Amino acid sequence: MKVVIIGGVAGGASAAARLRRLDEKAEIVIFERGSYVSFANCGLPYYLSGTIQSKEDLVVQTPELLGKRFNLDIRIRQEVTHIDKTEKIVKVHNHVTGETYIENYDKLVLSPGAKPFIPPIKGIDANKVFGLRDIPDVLSIENYIQENKPKKIVVFGAGYIGIEIAENLKKAGLNVTIIELMNQILGPLDYEMATLVHQHLKENEVEFYLSDPVQSITHNSGCNVLELSSGKEVKTDMIIMGVGVRPENALAKEAGLEIGITGGIKVNDYLQTSDPDIYAVGDAIEINDYISGNPALIPLAGPANKQGRIAAGNICGIKKSYNGTQGTSIIKVFDMTIATTGNNEKLLKRKDIEYQKSYTHSPSHAGYYPGAEPISLKLLFSPNGQILGAQAVGKEGVDKRIDVIATAIRAGLKVADLEELELCYAPPYGSAKDPVNMAGYVANNILKGDVEVFHWDEFTQYDSNDSIILDVRKTDECEEGMIEGAINIPLDELRERLAELDKNKMILIYCQVGLRGYLASRILKLKGFNRVKNLSGGYKTYYPTTCRQDNCPLYSFEKILKSDIIEADTR
Ligand SMILES: Cc1cc2nc3c(=O)[nH]c(=O)nc-3n(C[C@H](O)[C@H](O)[C@H](O)COP(=O)(O)OP(=O)(O)OC[C@H]3O[C@@H](n4cnc5c(N)ncnc54)[C@H](O)[C@@H]3O)c2cc1C
Repeated sequence: MKVVIIGGVAGGASAAARLRRLDEKAEIVIFERGSYVSFANCGLPYYLSGTIQSKEDLVVQTPELLGKRFNLDIRIRQEVTHIDKTEKIVKVHNHVTGETYIENYDKLVLSPGAKPFIPPIKGIDANKVFGLRDIPDVLSIENYIQENKPKKIVVFGAGYIGIEIAENLKKAGLNVTIIELMNQILGPLDYEMATLVHQHLKENEVEFYLSDPVQSITHNSGCNVLELSSGKEVKTDMIIMGVGVRPENALAKEAGLEIGITGGIKVNDYLQTSDPDIYAVGDAIEINDYISGNPALIPLAGPANKQGRIAAGNICGIKKSYNGTQGTSIIKVFDMTIATTGNNEKLLKRKDIEYQKSYTHSPSHAGYYPGAEPISLKLLFSPNGQILGAQAVGKEGVDKRIDVIATAIRAGLKVADLEELELCYAPPYGSAKDPVNMAGYVANNILKGDVEVFHWDEFTQYDSNDSIILDVRKTDECEEGMIEGAINIPLDELRERLAELDKNKMILIYCQVGLRGYLASRILKLKGFNRVKNLSGGYKTYYPTTCRQDNCPLYSFEKILKSDIIEADTR
């Protein structure tokens, strides 16, 4: 059997290694357009700050070593330009010699990845715009910076890669401005979770513009002038793209393979394309969203590697299906960690999937042991308790909690099961009630009807003549800021001061994170107040959404805290 693989990085290299482990006799040829195979594309941004110091560390495997260990015929700088599925041949262009030749195959694996999206902005073609996809890209960014010493670098797009580039350039001592089309950074997060990260970017003095896409780029006195849709002008010496990727589908399209509605190559459960002898894996394919079953594009390294392995197994007769991608992902943003799994609320709304949600802010480990940091966790679940997604923002232990929830989703566990998970605990690592258990308790209380909740963006739904906003935090906590129109009765005084509340009105309770509000709501319910709701996630979820979100022009976090409370009312 002769297997030809197009693309020698995540999905392609994984498929090749697995094929060899299953079949010692197969002839395996990898065509890779670039000069490197199996390199650390996920590590590229960290090279820009010197966190990863040498280029060699990005080269996980050389073609020689990989080829020798797995007995592979690896052909770098050779690009497949045409697939003839009837003749079962591919046409290859050798970028070193300039020659073009034909190679036949019995089975073909496509793992060509994704290409950076270049937005159609007036003037963009006239400029050298940098992308970051491979080792030559990162080296050309490095060379440009060393030779031209740019004073200000603009990153287009605040997705995972854009933010990682911005963080690492900032760490390298450069001035960075991010320009984002949406009203938030990090699209996989919902808005209110992203607002926590916006404030952290400000603390780290990264300038960023939201909801303000670039309209045009002109060249003036040696620098680029970006005109934003608001009319603002931003000057920059260098532009780096981080606006997302599109599946590399041209070759498959031209070969007459079916393309899905998302633009990804269409595959069946066994990762076969519309031609059963051609498999496709990685960023180039359309997968099923594990939660909804809908077609989706989720370009991540873990799924690409797993798909490569599964495709290889299927080629060798070990039938296994790929069961969809959940989108479990993580990013470091300076001192913060942000992780998500499953669907976010924006997607659930768009797909018309019924859901409920809860917010918790539990300490990463026992509060009495030094160094505990809050983990802000949003859980999305269906009315029958199915876990639909989770997002967490914090400094410590975020990865562990999202990984536990990701595993729970795969295992088909429900919200109530999260209460029962027995997770490791000693004070430096967790709490006897882990943040995942807490999220389970809170979500399950909502499902059981033990507490009625309302959310940070729902205040305007309540008529102020028919409702009371009740802050049950201690008086000194309220001095740091309260929700407009609220009255303060600390939880410990509530039983004695019930007469101050009108039983006929809706009582909208909040505290700092939601726990005291829950206790207060139980007291009021048991004392005969029938219309009581607790703000899920409390003031800690609400407050960051009221702050000014962007950071332009650059100013310090301290100034923001004061001025934003005023600004929030005008937004
Ligand atoms: C800067 C950066 C950071 C990232 N960080 C993360 C992260 O932290 N976590 C995460 O999960 N994912 C991350 N990703 C995404 C992850 O790298 C991809 O999801 C994964 O590499 C996809 O694997 P793939 O095999 O589909 O494509 P790739 O790994 O991109 O490999 C495709 C290869 O195919 C080659 N090729 C394309 N067409 C042809 C052709 N016609 N002939 C020959 N060769 C061809 C390309 O040159 C390329 O080398 C990151 C990506 C980048 C660029």
